[in-house]
Amino acid sequence: MLSQRAKNLAPSPTVAIDSRAKALLSAGVDVVNFSVGEPDFDAPESAKRGAMEAIEKGMNKYSPTPGLPDLLKAISKKFKDENGLDYAPNQIIVSNGGKHSLTNVFMVLVDPGDEVIIQSPYWVSYPEMVKLCGGVPVIVETTEATGFKMTPDMIRAKLTPRTKLINLNSPSNPTGAVYTPDELRAIVELAVEKNLYIISDEIYEHLLYDGAVTASPASFGPEAYEHTITVNGFSKAYAMTGWRAGFVGAPARIAKAIADLQSQTTSGISTLTQMGALRALEGSQEPRAMMRREFAKRREYVIERMQSIPGFALSVVPTGAFYVFPKVTGTYGMTIKGKTIQSSDDLAMLLLEEANVALVSGSGFGSPDYLRISYATATERLKTGLDRIDALLRQAQ
Ligand code: PMP
Ligand code: GLU
Repeated sequence: MLSQRAKNLAPSPTVAIDSRAKALLSAGVDVVNFSVGEPDFDAPESAKRGAMEAIEKGMNKYSPTPGLPDLLKAISKKFKDENGLDYAPNQIIVSNGGKHSLTNVFMVLVDPGDEVIIQSPYWVSYPEMVKLCGGVPVIVETTEATGFKMTPDMIRAKLTPRTKLINLNSPSNPTGAVYTPDELRAIVELAVEKNLYIISDEIYEHLLYDGAVTASPASFGPEAYEHTITVNGFSKAYAMTGWRAGFVGAPARIAKAIADLQSQTTSGISTLTQMGALRALEGSQEPRAMMRREFAKRREYVIERMQSIPGFALSVVPTGAFYVFPKVTGTYGMTIKGKTIQSSDDLAMLLLEEANVALVSGSGFGSPDYLRISYATATERLKTGLDRIDALLRQAQ
């Protein structure tokens, strides 16, 4: 018999659709994959050389659980230089991707019945991670009206004596919304007032457009720092999704709890990955800047195309990450190839089957009337995919 925990777990829809698209591609089907948030660029040369160096140096033994000392030092420097944060190396834990880092944080902070504030639209994994720890995700629904962002009042309305944590993600997946420093500060003040923790998932921190600015909540002062756990990773900044490297910076007692947890579950992550991550941080940051410039161009293109695709409406222009999240209720009722669209799930299925375009329905993100398009896809593929969507929807009766 499976555990209750396993029975209650929903599989990740982003991973499921990406796996399906990749399987179709390897079977020779010409699928355009807009489903997953995965930069199409190669990992930086510096990272590749780092992993080779690890092999050549015979770094074949267990790493210290929190990470190699040089990597912890380099991450500490990154936090200082890029985020204005003072995390000493012993306050940093490297894990198998941001996903693992986040799971560790929930594991050490959430007791059964504890409530975690999560906004919708949310990244698919947050509520499931909380549930895995026996916690209760409390969803604050955001809409276009607040630019897909929570305000302190919206959070306040959901607080109970069991509230433990507020989950923040700026720039956000799936909406591309960016919280300004003032907006973050107001939420952090509420967290400090109510003695709640903040998890700040900053994995898209470099992907900002049109002059958008955000901040690291832990940098707002000593109280903010004590209440915040900062999560980040190499997947998006360095196009290293398959390497699996994420990290947290946290007050020392929380970092120690995570290290203890990791020592009993996964141990330290692959030394090859760690050396790649170290050299990526030390090497030229031009690959990161180049990706951002490319994403900026693609973003302009996708936003423009959203204006004319039948039934799609993008009323909040995203200024971060690499996603657009249009409302697709305008397609409901359309009949195409004998199928009537009644939901964004129907639409996503139709687009996969009839246009060979994979994208993720809003339902997995807690916002069923939307659809997520990841534009971390080569420009020609972006055009091909959007042309196919447009052409299919124009056949509507
Ligand atoms: N946070 C957010 C918001 C994400 O979109 C992702 C993408 N998977 C992650 C964390 C974690 O990514 P990874 O595990 O590849 O570091
Ligand atoms: N975070 C990315 C996404 O949302 C990668 C897949 C996943 O881990 O969810 O598509």
